[in-house]
Amino acid sequence: MADTITKSVSLRYSPELVDAPIIYHLVRDYHLIPNIIRASISPNKEGYTLLSLTGAEEDFRKAIVYLQGLNMVVEQLADKVSWDELRCTQCGACTAVCPSGALSVQRPEMTIRFDGTKCVVCHMCIEACPVDAVKLDF
Ligand code: SF4
Ligand code: SF4
Repeated sequence: MADTITKSVSLRYSPELVDAPIIYHLVRDYHLIPNIIRASISPNKEGYTLLSLTGAEEDFRKAIVYLQGLNMVVEQLADKVSWDELRCTQCGACTAVCPSGALSVQRPEMTIRFDGTKCVVCHMCIEACPVDAVKLDF
């Protein structure tokens, strides 16, 4: 049996694709398990979805080709982020946006903790951190 991988991708797509059954096809045709991290529609009706996909690497590759074939802008996100404890000012901004609990506040100490095994590499903390304490590892 093929190795299972989990990768995060962001999708940007035109208004006519907003209601398309894309998740259904990812599950049925490519046997992937999607986990939607964030989805939004901009004022000009462009769709944005950030999701992780779990499944066989070959199926993942085929699914990316499928999505690109729909004229979606598909960005594969880096596999890992790193947290620089020394640079971190413990402001907590990243914990408010982290969807997986990878960055969290430890109580009662009220210190920030990073658990890389929970991270789905969604980039939210990178945008939220005012001091660049979280970075992508390429
Ligand atoms: S990239 Fe940052 S916000 Fe996203 S899951 Fe990982 S730690 Fe949390
Ligand atoms: S946003 Fe940056 S500085 Fe603030 S707690 Fe998170 S990693 Fe630390």
